[in-house]
Amino acid sequence: MAKDNTLKQSAGQKLQDKLCFTYENQWDYIDTETEKAVHEFSKEYAKALDLGKTEREFHDYTVERLEKAGFNNLDELNQVKAGDKIYRTVHGKGLMAAVVGEGAMEDGLLIVGSHIDSPRLDLKPYSLYEKNDMTFFKTHYYGGIKKYHWLSTQLAVHGVVFTKDGEKIRINVGEDENDPVFTITDILPHIAKKQREAKAEELVTAEMLNVLIGSKPHPDKEVKERFKLGLLEVLHEKYGITERDLVTGELSVVPATKARDVGFDRSFIGAYGHDDRVCAYTSLMALLDAKPGQKTQVILLTDKEEVGCDGNTGAKSKLYYFAFNELHAKLLGREPNLFETQRMLENSKMLSSDVTSAYDPDFDDVFEKMNTAFCNYGVGVSKYTGSGGKVETSDANAEYFNEVTRLFDEHKVPWQAGVLGRIDEGGGGTIALHYANAGMNVLDVGVPLLAMHSCFEVCSKLDVYNTYRAYKAFFEYAK
Ligand code: MN
Ligand code: MN
Repeated sequence: MAKDNTLKQSAGQKLQDKLCFTYENQWDYIDTETEKAVHEFSKEYAKALDLGKTEREFHDYTVERLEKAGFNNLDELNQVKAGDKIYRTVHGKGLMAAVVGEGAMEDGLLIVGSHIDSPRLDLKPYSLYEKNDMTFFKTHYYGGIKKYHWLSTQLAVHGVVFTKDGEKIRINVGEDENDPVFTITDILPHIAKKQREAKAEELVTAEMLNVLIGSKPHPDKEVKERFKLGLLEVLHEKYGITERDLVTGELSVVPATKARDVGFDRSFIGAYGHDDRVCAYTSLMALLDAKPGQKTQVILLTDKEEVGCDGNTGAKSKLYYFAFNELHAKLLGREPNLFETQRMLENSKMLSSDVTSAYDPDFDDVFEKMNTAFCNYGVGVSKYTGSGGKVETSDANAEYFNEVTRLFDEHKVPWQAGVLGRIDEGGGGTIALHYANAGMNVLDVGVPLLAMHSCFEVCSKLDVYNTYRAYKAFFEYAK
């Protein structure tokens, strides 16, 4: 994507072009037609964000898209052959989908793997209570949040509750414009002297994240806790559930806001949950649109990344490997042996598709600008994540880093190398190390994000589109 001004260049400038390496703002290379495609892509992505604010919801959205595109549930197939399109769910919160290639699985898979959980507030098991004539939900925060973000903002409740008869009740309140919303109230500035003097960490504590859900009492003054009873009666009328069912349910509090264009020029998209549905969505679209190839193309959508990838739906779950194994067996017509499985893992190439931090000029001091991704400069490539002295990360091999970025260059996918801020400022991880631990070649490739882990994360529409192009090029051309 070099500018064609070679004729006017001095000898030094020519040498600089040859020897030096810089990234460029991609708006300088976009024609009207591409710009239209960028906005269109973003519009569809915004719909997916609004429909899929939890891993369960995004999983269901993905299954619907896959089935519409002719993908079949691997569970229901006895045999699989080249050209087939399959998916395998992992407990309804994670997913593997694949377009089966002509070649043997032993030669490796091409995988783009993301996560579909986002930081939020989960309800505690015993959650509903009244205090001073108001009713609240007690929450337990999930993932890395800045607690003060969650005060004085509109919140929605999403999730599932099972009745004592085992019936599944889906709950989604706060998204429809006629729905009520919920909120965690902040204190007025007039009497916030203590709060102003507190360290940010102490400003809002976890046990202060209590969501206001009502204030109308049950009319019977004889009962204790009649405000709580009044609220339970409302829930029972609407959903047929009791307090017991709430205890065993899985309800989350998420921002009630919708994905919106940001800026007069609409160049950004702002939303809750870009991390990491922006990479999940772009990988899904890449899988749906890519030409099938020699190798099997796979997307993984995993859960629990924000809390360390543990559990039966997290990236550490064996079920994702068993899904590969099931596909392998149904292709071979027999169980693959250990060596075939080993070679499949060793030969597999993966892009760990997760967001990276974008440079923010208002927080210049926490970034090391030479190694930070910028909005609009293309897909962010991170050789490693982790923290401190490269702890808890997969540090991608130079062989693979070079191979992937050459592929991007060849197919005109703009990329930039970025890591997560200055060394020792903190850190973070992705699912990369878990698949690298299994023997795959893995490189982190994703969208640079402003205000990551906030209630309103922001990224460049152009970067979203180029990330889709990066994954599609990977599926179509990686060897
Ligand atoms: Mn992430
Ligand atoms: Mn995250």
